[in-house]
Amino acid sequence: MNRFTYRCALVFAAFVFASCSAGAKGKPVAGDGSELALGTVCSIRVFDGYSAQALDAAFARIREIDATMSANAPGTALASINDAAGIRPVSAPKDLLFVLEKALSYASLSGGAFDPSIGPLVKLWNIGMEGERIPSVAEIQDALPLVDAASVLVDDSAGTVFLAKKGMRLDLGAIAKGYAADEAAHILSEHGVHAAVVDLGGNIKVVGKKPDGQPWRVGIQNPLDQRGAYLGVVELQGEATMVTSGVYERFFIGEDGMRYHHILDTKSGYPIRNGLTSITVIAASSVDADGLSTSLFAMGLAAGMELAERLPDVEAVFVDEERRVYVSSGLQKIFTLQNPDFTLSPLAF
Ligand code: ADP
Ligand code: MG
Repeated sequence: MNRFTYRCALVFAAFVFASCSAGAKGKPVAGDGSELALGTVCSIRVFDGYSAQALDAAFARIREIDATMSANAPGTALASINDAAGIRPVSAPKDLLFVLEKALSYASLSGGAFDPSIGPLVKLWNIGMEGERIPSVAEIQDALPLVDAASVLVDDSAGTVFLAKKGMRLDLGAIAKGYAADEAAHILSEHGVHAAVVDLGGNIKVVGKKPDGQPWRVGIQNPLDQRGAYLGVVELQGEATMVTSGVYERFFIGEDGMRYHHILDTKSGYPIRNGLTSITVIAASSVDADGLSTSLFAMGLAAGMELAERLPDVEAVFVDEERRVYVSSGLQKIFTLQNPDFTLSPLAF
């Protein structure tokens, strides 16, 4: 996210807080906070059981995860692993090993469409950061062999990670926010929070029960409109999360007039063009939903929906460029399409 986008996101966050300060159904928000971390605006709203300690502890953990797993900042544990690519294994903290192993499991589940060793390509394109540009064909050809999940060697008993080829680079941008949402939610509960919403740049996790006993109603972003404009609403209850991967927020327009977004095709090295604009995953664990949202996007509608239907307790909403919305079978009752510009489409496969 560049500085301009950051500023817009902050203004937006302030707007959301102002409009939500009456809380769910008139119940006041007991306390809230917002910080920039993990490359996005992280916000927490507590409706019941608020304490400043709870909020501080949750934000401290989010910052800690950022300081461990960021691929962009120097000095993180992830950067040390990347710096030692092709040279030696590096000790990694337990939480990083956990998230990396999750990411590798999604690499295998998605047949390689998702790959945490996407780092060399992400760095070439630099989308959403300063210096974003269209790389040369030769640069992409050089980077492609380095995107290779099979060469990410995790030694669980030694607690180390070794990237077998020089130039390899891990990037956990597609999954770390989900883990941070799970951790923040867990910490809030441990501190006696009974009702809260953790929102890490649209990666949403609900905690406990809404004070009025009704399910949480969470909006799915309209990919064609500004942030905060929704195409539909999902009802969440119990331990639940909703994560969206879309191509509408982080992108740039190249000199050729084409739009280049930030979810990359591990085979071609270019941003994925498969007719989709966003995918939303609803599940219990946010690390899984985040890994899956990027995986399903990369796999495309047919294979992605097939996988979502196969996984227990995972639901998904796919939106394509023609404003068609496809929902998995378990969502029929808890998803409501609200924007008449979109049409709910049956699955034709
Ligand atoms: P966001 O971070 O915008 O919420 P995602 O969770 O979909 O969206 O993650 C996108 C990020 O994941 C990219 O910015 C990049 O760091 C990384 N990434 C891009 N393509 C892939 C891919 N094919 N597999 C794994 N990670 C990817
Ligand atoms: Mg993701």
